[in-house]
Amino acid sequence: MTTTDEITLDIDGKSVTVPAGTTLLEAAKQIGEDTPTICFHEATTANAICRICVVEVEGQRVLQPACIVEAVADMQVQTRSEKVIRSRKSILEMLASSVDLSEAPEIQTLMDDYDASAERFPDAQRRNIEIKDDNPMYIRDYDKCVLCWRCVQVCADDAQFTYAINFSGRGYETEIGTFFDQTIPASSCVFCGQCVAVCPTGALKPKREMFIQQGISPEDITVMSSGRKKRKKRT
Ligand code: SF4
Repeated sequence: MTTTDEITLDIDGKSVTVPAGTTLLEAAKQIGEDTPTICFHEATTANAICRICVVEVEGQRVLQPACIVEAVADMQVQTRSEKVIRSRKSILEMLASSVDLSEAPEIQTLMDDYDASAERFPDAQRRNIEIKDDNPMYIRDYDKCVLCWRCVQVCADDAQFTYAINFSGRGYETEIGTFFDQTIPASSCVFCGQCVAVCPTGALKPKREMFIQQGISPEDITVMSSGRKKRKKRT
């Protein structure tokens, strides 16, 4: 029996009952369907930016982003129709054609799952942005940025209310940046680290991680970051 606050719909041929206001992403999870996401993060407000979570809803002309569309009674939803699979695959192929995904393991796994080819758009213009290394805590390597907006959201109303970063530029030139392209120390950044924590691609990386990748030992990193001189071992 369903209450007035519950909704019953059909997802992939299975009936599911959820509380009113549940998104299709959450409803699908209830029947064990793990819908892929990139821009979505449980700690941030869903904005349907990347569109990898799209699903097919009967009667709707275009695919619907499952992270923001709420379940409606008697909705008929397909999460793995041919149209959905083709759309997700194309999104992944477009991302891979212009963005460095070498440090985005979750997206690489999706590439495998959807048999997506990084070579599909060989003439695509790749991102080529100089690494920004302007503070003691983290680097910004926007060649790896998929513009998911997670970092902006945690810096703003979803967590920190600091507003140090936002989108800048338009179209292909869109980047994440500070106001007037200031350095991070000159911005309102308080170095909380939340942007780095939610970044799915390695575009924002702690310097310690970068140094370890460069082969510098943890001991030497501690010496470098504390400004102490390394003591010689007594023999
Ligand atoms: S820097 Fe990372 S978290 Fe921010 S928009 Fe780019 S990929 Fe997303």
